[in-house]
Amino acid sequence: MDIPTVAVATLATQYKRNLFHKIDEMFSLFEMDKRIPRRGFAAVKLHFGEEGNTTFVRPIFLRRVVENLKEIGARPFLTDTCTLYVGERSNAVEHLALAARHGFVPPVVDAPVIIADGIRGNSYREIPIEGKHIESAFIAREIVEADAVIGVTHFKAHELSGIGGTLKNIGMGCAARKGKLAQHSNVAPKVKRKRCVGCKTCVGVCAFHAITMAEGKAYIDPERCAGCGECITACPQKAIQIQWNETIPVFQEKLAEYAKAALVGKMSSSLFFNFVWEISAICDCNPHSGAPIAPGVGIVASTDPVAVDQASVDLVRQPPREVREALRLPYEVLEDPFLKEYPKTDWTIHLSHAERIGLGSRRYKLVNVDAPD
Ligand code: SF4
Ligand code: SF4
Repeated sequence: MDIPTVAVATLATQYKRNLFHKIDEMFSLFEMDKRIPRRGFAAVKLHFGEEGNTTFVRPIFLRRVVENLKEIGARPFLTDTCTLYVGERSNAVEHLALAARHGFVPPVVDAPVIIADGIRGNSYREIPIEGKHIESAFIAREIVEADAVIGVTHFKAHELSGIGGTLKNIGMGCAARKGKLAQHSNVAPKVKRKRCVGCKTCVGVCAFHAITMAEGKAYIDPERCAGCGECITACPQKAIQIQWNETIPVFQEKLAEYAKAALVGKMSSSLFFNFVWEISAICDCNPHSGAPIAPGVGIVASTDPVAVDQASVDLVRQPPREVREALRLPYEVLEDPFLKEYPKTDWTIHLSHAERIGLGSRRYKLVNVDAPD
């Protein structure tokens, strides 16, 4: 395998060379005009941010990505999927309303905003994959339909994957609700009897007839449950809960396998950006952001989804001299801020597994787009 290129554009900018110019240069560097088919649909996969969160990638950057895609003749759309947990992003209607409140509307981003797995998160295609854990993955239909995936990720820490980078954005973020549940759990959701008021809403939404009522409370038959996650969001009492029982190594390996499934047929047409600043301890699914846990670096991009995550960690921890000087960083090596935040969560697990299953490389060649020619 050739060693992939990773490009870094630091936060150090000049009058005629701002971050937008640097995004343009990254599109040129990776020759995206040759990678994305003309008139191809490009799914720009991002996270619109939970209500109250402020660290999601700002719409003005998405606009520049969209402009570059249009420039090369592609047809971009901005997209994310419904969440597994109950909240504003668990269905397309409220998710789109929240995205609009955060500025992701066509007049700003110059592209349509589409929720890739339908109004209830159950629109998917089953993608066969011979993984260690996954035989077939449930990938959001509009991601499968797209010709290219452009990942735009806010890079931060994450309690289950250690880092929340490109692999997390693509692996979890391109899965329909059923696929998200499959990554988090290997058992059916459970009814919290104390909370259940016996309204039977869940019985009506379960297409698999897995829910029955007993003594005025709902009961899920694990033998019948297909793990679609529909009842979790349907319950008005939040009485049906995910059993977060997957161990961290298995979760991370499943995540890598889902990322591979989401990119089937698209590896040669995709590009992945990590926005490495406002590096929070928690993901943008939270209704707040918290203080950064490490200094910001800039934008990191690659056509390799593994290399871009590895390089993002390396740039945070041990930036090369020119990056350090450009950013006026007072250290040469920083203690791993991700491991420091979550000592029991080794982020290398999903990167190593992704490398093992042929999704990319942890070795890379770094190109600094700030450096003079
Ligand atoms: S929807 Fe919730 S409250 Fe209503 S019966 Fe089902 S579990 Fe109980
Ligand atoms: S997760 Fe889906 S299949 Fe399982 S009980 Fe809930 S609605 Fe039914």
